[in-house]
Amino acid sequence: MEPAPISFDNTEIAFKGKSDSDLNRSYYLFKLIGNPSLVKVGDVMTNFALALHIPIGWAIKGNIFKQFCGGETITECSRATKILDKGNIGTILDYSVEGKESEKDFDATTEETMRTIQTAHNNDHIPFCVFKVTGVARFALLEKINAKEKLMDEEIAEWQRVRERVDRICGLAEKTGTPVFIDAEDSWIQDAIDDLTNEMMEKYNGKKAVVYNTIQLYRHDRLAFLKKCHQDAKSKGYYSGYKLVRGAYMEKERARAAEKGYQDPIQPNKEASDRDFNLALEYCLENIDNISICCGSHNEQSSMLLATMMDKKGVSRNDKRVYFAQLFGMSDHISFNLAHAGYNVAKYVPYGPIREVIPYLIRRAKENTSVKGQTGRELGLIIKEKERRKSERN
Ligand SMILES: Cc1cc2nc3c(=O)[nH]c(=O)nc-3n(C[C@H](O)[C@H](O)[C@H](O)COP(=O)(O)OP(=O)(O)OC[C@H]3O[C@@H](n4cnc5c(N)ncnc54)[C@H](O)[C@@H]3O)c2cc1C
Repeated sequence: MEPAPISFDNTEIAFKGKSDSDLNRSYYLFKLIGNPSLVKVGDVMTNFALALHIPIGWAIKGNIFKQFCGGETITECSRATKILDKGNIGTILDYSVEGKESEKDFDATTEETMRTIQTAHNNDHIPFCVFKVTGVARFALLEKINAKEKLMDEEIAEWQRVRERVDRICGLAEKTGTPVFIDAEDSWIQDAIDDLTNEMMEKYNGKKAVVYNTIQLYRHDRLAFLKKCHQDAKSKGYYSGYKLVRGAYMEKERARAAEKGYQDPIQPNKEASDRDFNLALEYCLENIDNISICCGSHNEQSSMLLATMMDKKGVSRNDKRVYFAQLFGMSDHISFNLAHAGYNVAKYVPYGPIREVIPYLIRRAKENTSVKGQTGRELGLIIKEKERRKSERN
């Protein structure tokens, strides 16, 4: 029998985890952050407050933090996990502390990431874990390695410690059977991350994909890179795992390339990013025998494309080698409708001390500001669901 077609239009399914008061909170929040000037002022004031160590956690804990984060600790994230679980959606615990530079912090982040893997091991609702290499390594060191500069003796020792941290995380992932994503970051440190990740894949992906690299298709060279990595893996006899994303740092990438006078690594336009993203989905699905993928996207068209390609190819909707993923608090209409139709879906649930996750929250707020006064997508969906509930009551 043909599987039933899917649609992302059903807001009843999309928001079934939200009570009326949750929905109202989201409504006022998205209305507020839909205003670009307010977000700009908020950004400046928040950075100011952070720089002066003014306590601001209380001001955001009940609203923007609650919308986009699971809590301050793994335990506090169980609220989010329960909401997602109601919709048959997995949780990906994402310890979102950024911008740390000390060895003590890198060790602490390694331990915390390993705790997320242990938590996942005892919890069927957590299908993946994730970390950023900049959470366990100094940015300037990664830059130096990326540029193939000669390291000093103490830097060689420092790099060895980074490698050991990453190896401990990936080793535990393999031991417990919980796959781990390694996030992609700025292009001027990404070669260093890719080399280390490929090494980990070779070491730990012998039986299945445990370590996943992230491929940013907003870069014009990444489709070819994906294919090359996969061919290398095949020839060496290990499985590949890829999280496919468009990429989060476009403005920064373009500004740096212009400032330093090198070729912009980003695609010439959005259409080119979309084309390569969809081609990458297609390539991975064609090679599903030795590639596992996670489609990390809020794009309806790409999500629909992957879903329909799976059905056409006869890849079962609950085949663990294919996952869809979105961020907590965003695009519930994609996540919940896909999961309702039987596909594998998980959401990144960022967590950490409020002060530390503020840069993440500012990025989410900026992403959700409206374009030329139009109602943003999230807000439009919330309004639709509020109206549906109202008419159901009448
Ligand atoms: C589960 C998950 C994990 C993620 N992990 C990472 C990660 O590890 N690393 C990372 O960098 N990002 C990551 N992201 C963010 C992601 O890269 C995108 O920024 C975000 O998801 C928006 O893209 P989209 O596919 O949802 O869809 P869309 O909203 O359709 O696309 C927006 C994206 O298209 C690209 N784009 C926009 N305009 C142009 C243009 N003019 N020219 C070229 N390209 C353009 C940009 O990448 C932009 O972010 C992750 C996202 C999710 C949901």
